Parts: sequence; structure tokens; C-alpha cells
Amino acid sequence: MKLLEDRIRSDGDVLPGNVLKINSFLNHQVDPELMKKVGEEFSHLFKDSGITKVLTCEASGIAPGVMTAYELHVPLVFARKKKPATLNDAVYWADVYSYTKKVTNQICVEQKFLHKGERLLIIDDFLANGEAVKGMINIANQAETEVAGVGIVVAKTFQGGSEWLKNHGYRLEALAEIDSLANNQVHFVGEK
Ligand code: 5GP
Repeated sequence: MKLLEDRIRSDGDVLPGNVLKINSFLNHQVDPELMKKVGEEFSHLFKDSGITKVLTCEASGIAPGVMTAYELHVPLVFARKKKPATLNDAVYWADVYSYTKKVTNQICVEQKFLHKGERLLIIDDFLANGEAVKGMINIANQAETEVAGVGIVVAKTFQGGSEWLKNHGYRLEALAEIDSLANNQVHFVGEK
């Protein structure tokens, strides 16, 4: 998605540890116009996949997730990173290891929001090693739903997650694919 790549080029900062900071339009401040286009693009890509629900993870997956769900006319469910006091009902849990933070966190979704046989589209802001998406797939499996696709705003293809998903037969669509952040430069897949 050229608009997204242009925005990453103009606003993105490369931090140590192969981390791309895009806080001005996705991870802190959110650009609703761009998120609308992200939602339209994912909706276009997955319109024939029979999606019944979008699943994402708080906090940064919510903006692209809700715009995609809006375009597909289905609900959005976002996994919580901490079990809130108000969440007393039965929940599905999954461990998510963060390579950047070197800690394992748990994510949870209330069982009543995922129904057996549903076709889920998993949306997230970034794909690196794939741990967050694997956690959501784990929850989808516990709920006996089907993961019909995975839509990622920015995939860092050099960090294993993209390969894992493809090798395990998941349909992956990434709107921007970065194959290197060496020398503090963003290098997109297919770029000379
Ligand atoms: P993974 O679980 O695939 O290793 O990492 C994905 C999660 O880590 C994303 O949900 C995102 O929150 C965070 N993340 C991974 N890499 C980056 C990055 O380069 N920049 C930002 N802002 N977040 C990242």
C-alpha cells in the first residue's frame, strides 16, 4: 500500500533492536483517514473469505481492526492484555512472549464472544516473530473457530513470523513489508 509506505518513510523512526516507531499515525496518535484506507484495503482483500468476526489485540490493533470490521460489516473482538475486574465470565487465555520486552504476557478473550465455526480475520499492527498472532491463533483454536486470514499493517519479514504463518498454511496479507531496518533505514520488500 503505497500511501502507507510513504507515511512510514516520512514519519517512521528506526530504534535500536530493529524496532520501527510510527507513533504519529498508528501506535500513539492515530490517523483516522489512513486507518480508514487500511480497513478498506483489508476488506477488499478478504471480502470473499466469509469472515464473521475480526480478532485483534489491544491496544494498537484496535484502530486498524475496527476500520476493517466496519468495512466487512462484522464485529471486532480485541484480546485484553490484563484481565479486567469487570471480566468475571469464562475466558480463553494464551501466553504471548515478547522478544522486545523479554517477558511472557497473557492475553484473554471472553468465551461468549467467539463461537464454534466462526471464520476469523486476525488483524494486528506489526508482525515480527509472530508471537502475538500465534497467541490469537491459540485462542481461536480453543474456541473451535477457523482463522480464515491474517492481516498485518506492517510486517517485518526478516523476523520469522511471516515465514511461520506461510509455512503453517495461513493466508497472510501485509500492507507494508519491510525486509530490513539496517543502518536505521527502512527497506521495503521489492525495493531496489
Ligand atoms: P511479534 O509478536 O510478532 O514478535 O511482535 C508483534 C507485536 O510486537 C505487535 O503487536 C507490536 O505491538 C509489537 N512490535 C513488534 N515489532 C514492532 C515494531 O517494530 N514497532 C512497533 N511499534 N511495535 C512492534
